Amino acid sequence: MDGAKCFKCGGTNLKPGELRSGLVFLPVSAFRFDTGNRSLFDKTPDVLINATMCLDCGFVEILGNLKSAKAIVQKIAEA
Ligand SMILES: [Zn+2]
Repeated sequence: MDGAKCFKCGGTNLKPGELRSGLVFLPVSAFRFDTGNRSLFDKTPDVLINATMCLDCGFVEILGNLKSAKAIVQKIAEA
C-alpha cells in the first residue's frame, strides 16, 4: 500500500481486505463479465476482487484481479 491514497479524502491510512457475502458459507464476492448467458450453468469464471478501506473516512475501494480478468476476457473472445 506504499504511496497509495484514498480517492475520497486523500488519506494514506489504507487497510486491505475483502468483501464478504455476510454469510459464512457463501464465497467471497466476485465480478463476472456479462456474456449474455443467463443459464444457471454458465461456466464463465469469476474475477476475484480485493477491497481496501480508508481508515480516515471509511471509503472502500474495490479492485479486480487484472491478470485473471484479462485471461477470462481472452477465453470469452475465443469461445
Ligand atoms: Zn479516505
